[in-house]
Amino acid sequence: MLKIGHEVIRPGKRYGEPNVSIPIPEELETQGDNAGIPTNQREVDWYAREYPLETMNITERASRDWANTLRDQHVEMREIRKEHDKLNSNLIMATRQTAELEPSAQPSGKDITEAIKDKARELGFLEVGITQYDTRYEYASKRGFNRYQHAICLAYEQDFEPTQTIPSVDAEIVHSSTYRTQAAAALELANLIHSEGYHAQVIHSSDATGPIIAMHVAAGLGQMGACGYLLTPHAGNRQRLLMITTDANVTYDEPVDYGIHAFCQVCQVCVNRCPGRALMRDKIWWRGIEKNKLYFKRCRPVMARYLGCGICMKVCPVQKYGLKNVMEHYAATGQVLGKGTHDLEGYELEGKGYFGPGELPQFESDFFSSMPHGDASEWAFDQFKEKAKAAGGEITDEIMEDFKAQMERALALSTDNVAMMDQDSDYI
Ligand code: SF4
Ligand code: SF4
Repeated sequence: MLKIGHEVIRPGKRYGEPNVSIPIPEELETQGDNAGIPTNQREVDWYAREYPLETMNITERASRDWANTLRDQHVEMREIRKEHDKLNSNLIMATRQTAELEPSAQPSGKDITEAIKDKARELGFLEVGITQYDTRYEYASKRGFNRYQHAICLAYEQDFEPTQTIPSVDAEIVHSSTYRTQAAAALELANLIHSEGYHAQVIHSSDATGPIIAMHVAAGLGQMGACGYLLTPHAGNRQRLLMITTDANVTYDEPVDYGIHAFCQVCQVCVNRCPGRALMRDKIWWRGIEKNKLYFKRCRPVMARYLGCGICMKVCPVQKYGLKNVMEHYAATGQVLGKGTHDLEGYELEGKGYFGPGELPQFESDFFSSMPHGDASEWAFDQFKEKAKAAGGEITDEIMEDFKAQMERALALSTDNVAMMDQDSDYI
């Protein structure tokens, strides 16, 4: 039996259920004041100032359009996606309007943290915590979008059963519907804050102002896993994230050491099982944060062709068994619960077959290299050069017309309503 370093006490999985106590073995504790993510604050400041973040919906627009074209070849998914976009767009518009809504009562001045948390859990949110809105994690194109200084960080569970069938149409359906359900619940929560006399802006996941995991960690909801998702105690990475900002009188939470930062280096199941070999075994320092960095160029080609992939979610033991069971098992045996079993690690890829523990699919060399790179204008220019080269150096009227049309579209994307197209903000 390993020595237990500390116990984490969290609310039960569902509203009204008793607290759970999670034992964290001493050898998995993160030292110093790095309870959430080991961070070099000076580096985070410097990168935010000198190299501000930008959404990959802009910086990697070309591959996104390419991926959407491939996805649309799946007839069933094309219809499902169309339906989701239609339903979701109303929710996006409704959440945007919350930025302007005035409170419906006079503020009492009292701290409403408990009222917010209680209501969030009643509405079905799995986890809720509060921290300062951190502009260092804001995309350059989203500056000024958020109005308020406090961030209510929320996580909504994605259903268990369909998630275990990843990659599948059922899993894609539940992925999209969870985004819609949590947006509707967040609008309800904003109503409560308005009725307490304060402003509340719901930031829809499709409108994410940046990669919000760092704030969710600061608010104590979980820690970042080797898969790049936030892992929370009850559902691991099987949830969708959202944020409400407010000027209400609230109390901040603290980051929590769930042992995940160190546990992922022992576990490595998602790293071993990723069909694209897109996850890093070792952690590196990236923009002031120590993490297992995702190779985007190896992930998106798999996501685009295999129903959004998500195998790194499906095979995570914390997702499947919950952190309490995983930590208790590790403390008792020194082993990762479920590691090496078909139940946890097995998956099927359409047209490729079944892959059990230790087995990975092989892909042709152009599987990865055929994906376009860069933003829409960079890609337009690359294609222009390729076509001119193929025409023996002659720039024909047809090539020019094509280039012009693509550049016009690219310029419209960089100045126009980019946020409306941010449907994949969880991807980053
Ligand atoms: S989504 Fe698929 S390809 Fe991308 S990191 Fe996860 S397992 Fe790998
Ligand atoms: S599968 Fe293992 S290594 Fe990957 S995120 Fe989950 S716990 Fe961490």
